[in-house]
Amino acid sequence: MSKQTFELTILGSSSATPTATRNPTSQLLNIAERFFLIDCGEATQIQLRKYKCKFQKIDHVLISHLHGDHFLGLPGLLASMHLLGRKQTLHIYGPKALEEIITLINAQSDTTLSYPIHYIHTDSSGVHKLFEDNKVEVYSFPLRHRIPTTGFLFREKPLPRNIDKYQLEKHKVSLAEIHKLKKGEDVVSEEGLLIPNETLTLPSAPTRSYAFCSDTLFHKSLADIIKDVDLLYHESTFLEEKKDRAKATFHSTAKQAAQMAVLSGASQLLLGHFSARYDKLEPFLEEAWPIFANTSLATEGKKISL
Ligand SMILES: [Zn+2]
Ligand SMILES: [Zn+2]
Repeated sequence: MSKQTFELTILGSSSATPTATRNPTSQLLNIAERFFLIDCGEATQIQLRKYKCKFQKIDHVLISHLHGDHFLGLPGLLASMHLLGRKQTLHIYGPKALEEIITLINAQSDTTLSYPIHYIHTDSSGVHKLFEDNKVEVYSFPLRHRIPTTGFLFREKPLPRNIDKYQLEKHKVSLAEIHKLKKGEDVVSEEGLLIPNETLTLPSAPTRSYAFCSDTLFHKSLADIIKDVDLLYHESTFLEEKKDRAKATFHSTAKQAAQMAVLSGASQLLLGHFSARYDKLEPFLEEAWPIFANTSLATEGKKISL
């Protein structure tokens, strides 16, 4: 069965302030060679360099909210794309004020970028489709944080069924009919017999999905939006011992992230957005594992392929 790329690269795992080993939030998602940069904390472009991700392949930048640890790397990245002579349109999805911020920076530095930016303003009041092509759909959905914040859901579209060569050899089918077969239609054999598409094809690989949830208070209604997601990234700024602090600052604990993985029926959980107060991250896993075993840490440079 043919499978297209579905790979996430973690560029930053820290919350508000960075540490010597952890950068603020950013991730790069490659679905069938469409590259989505998700959040762009400070120094994201250095992380892209470090992990050999090409700037100019990124055509979509999604910003969850306007806290600095999620977008302050964007002006620098946009400037570098300009200096490298980018021509193709960059699509930026984020709060409306992000467009005003970028426009002001470029105006004050007398910069006219070498490429157009197409802004798509996000709306944290509900679920909205942001992007769709023949391979993938991207949605934004509301998170509960101190300022308007959205998460992002990426869903691969169903792949065409695969031709069953063994069955095809047994039936006499013309080239024109094989073309129809590839489009999912039933075909007529050279003897004039109608052959259902499923007879000559095999199921395609299952579609894959990824949900990005940062930053947010734990809230159960999120589970319905991201139901049955294959890979869930959920922030865990704190451990459960600081659950009051998590609530007061509209963040979550590792235990709550694991509970969300269970509630939503996720297959895999990634924890991230760790507070700089924690030197060691193993306690995050120790807290999550008893609730949801398939949990790992979204640490810098980690790649997860689905
Ligand atoms: Zn944050
Ligand atoms: Zn925040």
